[in-house]
Amino acid sequence: MNAYDYDLFVIGAGSGGVRAARISAGYGARVAIAEEYRVGGTCVIRGCVPKKLLVYGAHFAEDLEDARHFGWAVEGKRFDWATLRDNVLSEVDRLNKAYISTLESQKVTILHGRAVLEDAHTMRIGDRTVTADKVLIATGAHPGIPDCEGAEHGITSNEVFHLETLPKRVAIAGGGYIANEFAGIFNAFGVKVTLLLRGDRLLREYDQQLAERLQAISTAKGIDFRFNAPFRKVEKQADGSLLIHAGKDDPIEVDLLVYAIGRPPNSAGLGLEAIGVDLAENGAIKVDADSRTNIGNIYAVGDVTDRVQLTPVAIREGHAFADTVFGGKPWRVDHGCIPSAVFSHPPIAAVGLTEAQARNTYGSVRVYASDFRPMKNVLANRSERSLYKLVVDEASGRILGAHIIGPEAAEIMQPLAIAVKAGLTKAQLDETVAIHPTMAEELVLMR
Ligand code: NDP
Repeated sequence: MNAYDYDLFVIGAGSGGVRAARISAGYGARVAIAEEYRVGGTCVIRGCVPKKLLVYGAHFAEDLEDARHFGWAVEGKRFDWATLRDNVLSEVDRLNKAYISTLESQKVTILHGRAVLEDAHTMRIGDRTVTADKVLIATGAHPGIPDCEGAEHGITSNEVFHLETLPKRVAIAGGGYIANEFAGIFNAFGVKVTLLLRGDRLLREYDQQLAERLQAISTAKGIDFRFNAPFRKVEKQADGSLLIHAGKDDPIEVDLLVYAIGRPPNSAGLGLEAIGVDLAENGAIKVDADSRTNIGNIYAVGDVTDRVQLTPVAIREGHAFADTVFGGKPWRVDHGCIPSAVFSHPPIAAVGLTEAQARNTYGSVRVYASDFRPMKNVLANRSERSLYKLVVDEASGRILGAHIIGPEAAEIMQPLAIAVKAGLTKAQLDETVAIHPTMAEELVLMR
């Protein structure tokens, strides 16, 4: 007779939790997973996936414009937000069902509701109590809201996907991933966009030369940036518009305010403090290299641990957990050299060290750059230039970082990241023959 109802209880059916649940079940573990919202989690339901589909939708604005230069007459073009929104939401529904059926096919029990830990092996979901040998917390993170008067008048990325109509003017708070991605999306749909940043730079973790290039291109497209503009107050006016007081400038009037100021971990209200799980100051669950908390049978993966808040990282952490704990095949996630991308207009992608980080760490580095106007932009009479940068260790010639802004940056970065992760040298890139004509050939032609 089993001492517990389940071998594994997973809290949160997002990217990390679902992967851990289904792989563990595949090893024969008896697994239950609790989800209080929708199976699929942030990435599938209200993050990466619907966002990328909106990015595709937004890109048609430029493509249809450029088409004229390639001989196409495009008459009567008109954008209908409701059509795109509903199609995107149906795709989200399809994926949600696919995730549920994957779990069911692996015999994972899905419990709908919020799970709270009563002790290290006991969870309460509504009026039901279940026990498990191991517990995995994969509850993700949530959009942060600024602490200022009238903050309740703004929305977050969660709500953007469901907007009834598009606003005429939007202010987006923040200068990170979500702010720049939605700035590009809204701007393409004809919405007047203002980014409000508390500091003096955007995309702080990215190479600053690329961030400056994005700022210049975005500004040329009509997006406004207000730096050093921390929130003071938001007022709702009689006509429903919002007056935002930020920094020292005059208040700005908009129809919609979106917060994109980071995503704090979802660790509150799970009963963690009561059973003594160690949390960081920002609420992140502290874990070791095996994603184990200070309580021996409780583990955590994904955004709730705030190591690297990216879906593929959460998935890997969930998979490593399952292989290690239930599969008898222990391995650890390497959190170094993780490629990432911002799906702005144009996108940015990067892997490894920025020029500034490399100079701080290695002292002597060589920087190779290619600053060019993609062929398609030339014919389309579009002035946007791409920038590719390689940061190379002077002594060994090893590529320490690669940074791209320009069309298809993320698609080009994925294979390049393999080379950087593998520790290849600049000379090895140079030995590779270019594929001509492409944008990516710049990577092997930088002298
Ligand atoms: P980011 O961490 O990317 O950026 C946060 C921004 O908000 C920064 O500009 C930061 O300013 C600012 N900020 C932080 N706190 C405050 C505050 N209290 N008041 C005003 N401004 C503030 O956060 P996002 O919300 O854009 O995204 C959250 C995470 O989700 C990302 O870090 C990323 O890991 C993930 N994500 C990944 C995507 C992708 O892979 N393409 C897409 C979307 C999200 P400062 O620089 O001054 O600190």
